[in-house]
Amino acid sequence: MTLDTPLSGVPGLSAAIAKSLGKEGFLTVEQLVLHLPSRHEDRRKMEFKGFSPSEIPVCHQVQVLSTRVMRFGGRRGGNFEAVVEAAQDNPMHQQLTLRWFGMPFLQKAIAVGMEMMVYGKIKQIKDRLVMGHPEYEVVKGDEEGDAEIHTSRIVPIYPLKGALKQKMLRTAIWRVLEHLDDRGMADLLPPPKAGGEFDGLGRAQALRTLHKPSEMSVLEQARRYLALEEFYILQLRVVRRRLRFKHTGGHALKPEGKLLQQFLASLPFAFTEAQDRSLREIAADMAMPQPMNRLLHGDVGSGKTVVALAAMLIAVESGRQGALMAPTQILAEQHYQNALRLLEPLGMRVSLRTGDKKADGGALELFEFKTGPTNGEAGQPHIFIGTHALLYGENESALSKLGLVVIDEQHKFGVAQRARLISRGEAPDVLVMTATPIPRTLTLTMYGDLDVSTIDERPKERGKVITAVREVTKVDEVTKFVRTQIEEGRQCYIVYPLIEESEKLDAGAAVKGHAEWTERLTPHAVGLLHGRMDGDAKEAVMRRFRSGELKALVSTTVIEVGVDVPNATVMLIHDAARFGLAQIHQLRGRIGRGSHTSWCVLFVPKGDKEAKERLHLLEETHDGFRIAEEDLKRRGPGNVLGHAQSGQAPLLFGEMLADTRLITLARRLAERTLEQDPELEKSEHLRLRPLLGNVEADEEVGRQ
Ligand code: ADP
Ligand code: MG
Repeated sequence: MTLDTPLSGVPGLSAAIAKSLGKEGFLTVEQLVLHLPSRHEDRRKMEFKGFSPSEIPVCHQVQVLSTRVMRFGGRRGGNFEAVVEAAQDNPMHQQLTLRWFGMPFLQKAIAVGMEMMVYGKIKQIKDRLVMGHPEYEVVKGDEEGDAEIHTSRIVPIYPLKGALKQKMLRTAIWRVLEHLDDRGMADLLPPPKAGGEFDGLGRAQALRTLHKPSEMSVLEQARRYLALEEFYILQLRVVRRRLRFKHTGGHALKPEGKLLQQFLASLPFAFTEAQDRSLREIAADMAMPQPMNRLLHGDVGSGKTVVALAAMLIAVESGRQGALMAPTQILAEQHYQNALRLLEPLGMRVSLRTGDKKADGGALELFEFKTGPTNGEAGQPHIFIGTHALLYGENESALSKLGLVVIDEQHKFGVAQRARLISRGEAPDVLVMTATPIPRTLTLTMYGDLDVSTIDERPKERGKVITAVREVTKVDEVTKFVRTQIEEGRQCYIVYPLIEESEKLDAGAAVKGHAEWTERLTPHAVGLLHGRMDGDAKEAVMRRFRSGELKALVSTTVIEVGVDVPNATVMLIHDAARFGLAQIHQLRGRIGRGSHTSWCVLFVPKGDKEAKERLHLLEETHDGFRIAEEDLKRRGPGNVLGHAQSGQAPLLFGEMLADTRLITLARRLAERTLEQDPELEKSEHLRLRPLLGNVEADEEVGRQ
């Protein structure tokens, strides 16, 4: 028997059980073996020390003394109660009431005389001790009592799916492990270092430990071993892709640097140290013959865009063109305005290319300069600004002529697309920018194939942003404040969440909010921006806001990324609790861009303590990395990174934040493995290949 054996072929598993498991997606031995316990109960000794109230769930083995149903609400409604005492030595005969609301049907499952394991919190209610809605498992008195499996050991408790029952699943996994030879669970990791943390441990043993630990204390080590293995597979994948890029032919862009000097001298400010460092890292990459594949991340407003523009000039001075791609038309338009302002004075021709076939059409007109930038043929742009969509279709074949492609807002642009862009012959240098500060563990995994530059410093002459969480009943006071700001010449964003997931489905809250705020702020003009408006209408509104004609702008989260109006100093966010912390942090990056102090007000429902507590971190800190980590802790990587990244299978064993050391170790192991055998051709590695997928397949995905 091996991990691939179908469950129907496991001795000791009845066809009926294999069928029930199959219905819930358990078809092979491997799927069962990798189904991990969510916790373990030590059912070995269970010395009874009495029932007592407790804030944390406790586990007891009990015997049922009596049961009753309290009916209400017709024939179906009712509560079920069972009075129990401890099953072990129990001279005092202390009693506990188990209570399930609205589940009268439990009468059929729980009968007097049965022994059960129960798990839950105990409360003192009047003169009784009550455990509400315990998890329970009958261990004696029903047909399936297999004491060896379900009691008198450290018992795994598995997450259940569909109609599966705890004992059936536990029995099945037990049987499978009984018949599975350790050779069927061969190690994926290279042998651990002698004397190290994992010395003596292998895959088979680690898996067996999780299902059947000898001691509670060995569980964590087994989990860590398997987490390391999981990270190792991930790292092999990214390191292999990375090596592949390194062997793709690119261009060495290594100009004298006059244009860049001119640009830096023309800026009204000096670069921060972090900007300097990032630009140096980028320039060094561009000077190499291999294509650059680099992530530039930093908080909103930390000055990434100017660094990217500087990098473009390196490409231009080398006789090539640059392209900057944004996720939306509004942002492309804004980058365009920005680039015009900064680059036209240097003689650069900047061209806006959007998906619209209208006016300034969609195609990139790529060419190679014959004699250096300013001598380029008349009318031909040096720099293209557009949306991501332009990287495909008719422009695709021309991409290899570009010197540098900058992709703004990485997480809307998938890993696969990036892989595809880079791993072609004569690849352009690629720089991806994201305003979501990405914790180090994620840059090592999700972005492990990229080199990383971090801007972790804000330009100095920035106004402060003061954030305050307020109950929505305070809206009148807030309105007064907004009016004074507007009367002092400032502007205000008012943001509503999408109630539905899709921008298209729900602009409702913003439309209604617009009517309300128009009234509250009369006679000042209030604009409305949401995803259901077409591109021209959106752009018209943004233009009126930018020009100062509109004093306030009500919008959905379409302003989330990149919009830059330095005169806007107030942001009100309605229903702030619906947003992730990192998302709010992004939003408020829209204010505090000028030298004035700015205010961000987060509205929460009256009395919503939990929301206040969660959002409090935003009042306290402006450190995007800390905020991203908190989000990662609370909501998992998908939410920090957005949806394009969710192609990543969830980790079974590893924890992105907690396991930094393991991730680093996995990286080293993967690099060593691939150094010895870049394509994993040797037989001892061949078994890894099916786990890794291949770079070409990723690129195919990117094509769609
Ligand atoms: P990001 O792209 O990281 O959000 P930008 O590059 O758009 O940031 O910069 C935000 C604003 O700050 C822009 O108006 C830009 O001109 C300005 N800026 C950038 N770098 C500096 C700096 N070192 N000192 C002062 N202002 C800067
Ligand atoms: Mg930006």
